[in-house]
Amino acid sequence: MLRKATITAMLETEQAMLPQNRVTLEEDEIPTRYYNIQADLREPLPPPLDPKTKQPVNPAALERLFAKELIRQEISSERYITIPDEVLQAYLEIGRPTPLIRATRLERFLKTPAKIFYKAEYLSPTGSHKPNTAIAQAYYNKKQGTERVATESGAGQWGSALALGSEMFGLKCKVYMVRISYQQKPGRRVMMETYGAEVRPSPSEDTNYGRSLLAQDKNHPGTLGIAISEALEDTVTHDNTRYCLGSVMNHVLTHQSVIGLEAKKQFESIDVQPDVIAGCIGGGSNFAGFAYPFLGDKLQGKLDADFVACEPKAVPSTTRGTFTYDFGDTAEMTPLLKMYTVGHKYQSPPIHSGGLRYHGKAPSLSYLINKGHVHSVAYHQNEVFQAARTFAQTEGVIPAPETAHCIKYIIDRAIECKKTGEEKVLAFNNCGHGLLDLKAYEDFLAGKLIDYEPPNIQVETYVK
Ligand SMILES: *Cc1c(COP(=O)(O)O)cnc(C)c1O
Repeated sequence: MLRKATITAMLETEQAMLPQNRVTLEEDEIPTRYYNIQADLREPLPPPLDPKTKQPVNPAALERLFAKELIRQEISSERYITIPDEVLQAYLEIGRPTPLIRATRLERFLKTPAKIFYKAEYLSPTGSHKPNTAIAQAYYNKKQGTERVATESGAGQWGSALALGSEMFGLKCKVYMVRISYQQKPGRRVMMETYGAEVRPSPSEDTNYGRSLLAQDKNHPGTLGIAISEALEDTVTHDNTRYCLGSVMNHVLTHQSVIGLEAKKQFESIDVQPDVIAGCIGGGSNFAGFAYPFLGDKLQGKLDADFVACEPKAVPSTTRGTFTYDFGDTAEMTPLLKMYTVGHKYQSPPIHSGGLRYHGKAPSLSYLINKGHVHSVAYHQNEVFQAARTFAQTEGVIPAPETAHCIKYIIDRAIECKKTGEEKVLAFNNCGHGLLDLKAYEDFLAGKLIDYEPPNIQVETYVK
């Protein structure tokens, strides 16, 4: 048996030989301000429009739905927004800053000269990046006296994050969870209930809209767009309730910037600059959170890197959709948003990446893709799970199916570097683990996954 001192000595010598594969930050190095990319765009983003008048929505009209501070952030063009002390404290308490990890085992397996780094957002208590904004939204709501929040959840990642955030700040939380996920992912529902949230399968009996859909089909599988409609109806029909959204809106993307701001400090501390920055996109928040602080540098001419957003071929909003004004939900209750969309009535195929089944993408991300600052790619689920498996076998982490979309891209890009001999630095946001998605892995291993692709996509035009 080896004595403890011997083991420590062995570890120390070994460490000296290893490349630095975990870049950490001290607690007092956590960013104290969010970054808002709206400050660095050459023109203001196209504003949300009232569907009836086609005129920009008056921000004050949104106060029944959202906390005031969140509306202020939504339209703000300040570059930096101070993170409240209570929110910083909560970030530290749940494990921020997260490490930036070099995927040395994956690099060796691929025999690539590229260096691969990932930001470990899967280490949060709920297993994804979502608490970064859930905590902030719960805090701002609590501060203005909100007692209850309502939201939707697709795969359950957002619902569990908001359930946790609400519990941390003493709010009640109601989650409308897309029925097919509610059935396929009981683990996520149990998480939300454990944190103290009330969870309903959507469409539900709790709203007029839900009841109308159930009357047509009592086994309606639901969509994220429908669940959003129900959460909005719930909000406006309950006193002292506000609505929270887990992606798409500017304030959500701004809260997520804490990821990229930390990553920038981490890259600076090892004197490395990323050449490629990638992430998967459902609504766009984890990609934006990781990429925008770097993209801001690119827009100011201080960084030359490729920005790559990865989506499923089954819901190809940015690769085959249209850049136009569309509704954010199925029941047409939201303002019209200028975004890449496959249409708000799109029937997303039942792919396992529940978080990537939303029909649209964040207006700011859509704008940046449209202007050519961000490039996007799309994959089928079988190739994505193959990449996820390679990652799990080398790095040990079983990624969320959503995250695996960008892992597929990174692996392909690393193989390309092997062919060209380029020593590029490839970075991606490891935004979630897949430990509550093992059914998807089981289906993949059994050869049961189907690669869907819509034959054609029709998007209505609301604004010329
Ligand atoms: C919610 C979620 C997504 C999709 O949402 P974005 O706003 O695009 O980040 C992707 N991956 C994971 C792990 C998620 O939980």
